[in-house]
Amino acid sequence: MKSELEKKAIKFCTINKHRLTEPRLLVLKIISASKKPIKAYEILKELGKKIKNPKPPTAYRAIEFWCKSNFIHRIESLNAYSVCNSEHFHSGSQYMICKGCGVVIESHFGEIQKVIKNILKKNTFKLSNWNLEINGVCSKCS
Ligand SMILES: [Zn+2]
Ligand SMILES: [Zn+2]
Repeated sequence: MKSELEKKAIKFCTINKHRLTEPRLLVLKIISASKKPIKAYEILKELGKKIKNPKPPTAYRAIEFWCKSNFIHRIESLNAYSVCNSEHFHSGSQYMICKGCGVVIESHFGEIQKVIKNILKKNTFKLSNWNLEINGVCSKCS
């Protein structure tokens, strides 16, 4: 049985004519299996359990690929990656990070997106990517 995410990845690669290599797929699965944001070296370590002696650039290129494709997001302050929980391909990422248990919750505040777009338009600044991280305490920890 293929997971929803895997089906989505296959569809995405077929439509956009990207090669869905084994390391690419494995890296995506590793990130999605992780309950907490996972760091690049941890991804590489996990990948090593599935394929023999994976080269670091192989893992890093796969991470970059999924990041660019918005399947995963980089959480800057943690220097770690988390799988996108949203069906739509959005341009920015918004996370609430619990300082108690370390859980991260992807959130979608549509208003923020609009505000950012408007401000950028006024300042004729071209956006490449953005991310918002809100630190606090989750409902379980408060
Ligand atoms: Zn997302
Ligand atoms: Zn918590």
